Amino acid sequence: MGITRRQFMRVSAAGLAASTVGALGFGDAGDALAAGVRPFKLERATETRNACPYCAVSCGVLIYSLGDRSKNARSEVIHVEGDPDHPVNRGTLCPRGAAVLDFVRSPNRLKYPMHRKAGSDKFERVSWDFAMDRIARLMKDDRDKNFVAKNRDGVTVNRWVSTGFFGTSSQSNEAGYLTYKLARATGILGLENQARI
Ligand code: SF4
Repeated sequence: MGITRRQFMRVSAAGLAASTVGALGFGDAGDALAAGVRPFKLERATETRNACPYCAVSCGVLIYSLGDRSKNARSEVIHVEGDPDHPVNRGTLCPRGAAVLDFVRSPNRLKYPMHRKAGSDKFERVSWDFAMDRIARLMKDDRDKNFVAKNRDGVTVNRWVSTGFFGTSSQSNEAGYLTYKLARATGILGLENQARI
């Protein structure tokens, strides 16, 4: 029979309480107590797996949220804990990762692409389409201007050193592979990653 982690927690809590009282000789009191045990507090929450965003260790986290869009209730993250099935951290989190809920709720958290126009002193929110087009345009223009196919000795080098690329440790191996392929295919040499530990 398959059993989820939540069902296991609920059954364990009820079973422990009942067997303890039973062992003390109170007979049926154990069953009554088990029936009164509160349900696991995250039972109704939606569980989402992700990686802690803070550092290159990339510990696995379980994010619990409550809410239902179909009922017009905005979904909110209510709890975050280490993922016991994650091979990196096995359920543990350092103090920074354990406080990631504050990061999720921080009013200073950057949630959208921001753009500062030339000459402006402030950033303004822009769409993802605008941001992607803008980045692609600037990269293309810069590459057309600065790409070096051969060095002064006539040796083919195909390099583009006036633009750099920065990857994140919070992506999967596959996304990291694609990041590397994209940067190297364009000739970028300055490829750095947060995960360089
Ligand atoms: S929990 Fe701590 S060690 Fe793990 S990724 Fe987050 S900041 Fe790094």
